[in-house]
Amino acid sequence: MRLAIVEGDGIGKEVIPAAVEVLDALGLDVEKVPVELGYGKWERTGQAITEDDLKVLKGCDCILFGAITTPPDPNYKSVLLTIRKELDMYANIRPIRPLPSVKGILGRSNFNFVIVRENTEGLYSGIEEIGQDISWTKRIITRKGSERIAEYACKLAKSRKSQLVIVHKSNVMKSDKLFLDVCREVAGSKGVEYTDELVDSMAYKLIRSPERYDVIVTTNLFGDILSDMSAALVGSLGLLPSANIGSRHAFFEPVHGSAPDIAGKGIANPIAAILSLRMMLEWYGKMPEAALVEEAVDAALTEGITTPDLGGTYTTKEMTCAVVDYIRREK
Ligand code: ATP
Ligand code: MG
Repeated sequence: MRLAIVEGDGIGKEVIPAAVEVLDALGLDVEKVPVELGYGKWERTGQAITEDDLKVLKGCDCILFGAITTPPDPNYKSVLLTIRKELDMYANIRPIRPLPSVKGILGRSNFNFVIVRENTEGLYSGIEEIGQDISWTKRIITRKGSERIAEYACKLAKSRKSQLVIVHKSNVMKSDKLFLDVCREVAGSKGVEYTDELVDSMAYKLIRSPERYDVIVTTNLFGDILSDMSAALVGSLGLLPSANIGSRHAFFEPVHGSAPDIAGKGIANPIAAILSLRMMLEWYGKMPEAALVEEAVDAALTEGITTPDLGGTYTTKEMTCAVVDYIRREK
């Protein structure tokens, strides 16, 4: 496998090397291709990502990505959006599960669900007109777009408890009827048990009883909001991994950004990046290795090895060492 490694800016330069150390400890046959993208590159060269970079990324199977600081230039084109579009990353995946010794806002620890968000259409179509008195954005729902995200969600559900919730707002926005119908059709044909929820009611229920859910599939904006909301159930931003899946490529990144406030201090929590690596291993079919990484992270946290965002005093390096040592011991 060819893996592009993009550290990016800020704490990306600290947490991605941590994840790479973990990957190295697993001893897999992976060709690592470092690619420089982001604000730092933009400052030096005037471009945050070039055509050549895109070619290199397309030549890799997947990308492990840190974070990029958004340059303060109105003409700047988002690196993330460019990659998402060029590599057609249509599914955004966020697993939400509690971690040992970490308290989320509600102090709950019995939930384990995944949000599958359509990543290319919906209200983030980019088709809009901004005026003095009226502005609008076109909300696009297609059969093809809905089908492929539903298929992804059903496949994931089948590897879990096979319970799918389709989240929509079709009572108000008729465009969502297509999304809902297609998701129902796909789930029915794949033999996945499904229900549906209006997004507002879903937000309420996810906070009240998160343990009831397994896989949630929804459109772009709703998925964006529910994902960030659910992050609060887990605890620190420094713990949450994510994946962007395309038809040929996949892209794995921590949910957090470049965190300029703590960059360079060596205290960033590397767990989100390490668990993003774990998602990559799963995507690549390396299930025992993925399970071992998860076990190693859980073990370190259980031992009380935590970075300052979790109230601890350990550094990025020390946390990473704990995870790597566990893997070396148990491999
Ligand atoms: P960006 O514009 O790149 O998103 P940001 O200033 O919004 O940067 P985020 O990375 O989104 O910063 O982080 C928000 C807050 O959470 C910051 O205070 C940051 O220090 C903290 N944070 C984010 N990631 C981590 C992490 N891995 N470890 C510790 N703290 C983190
Ligand atoms: Mg941010």
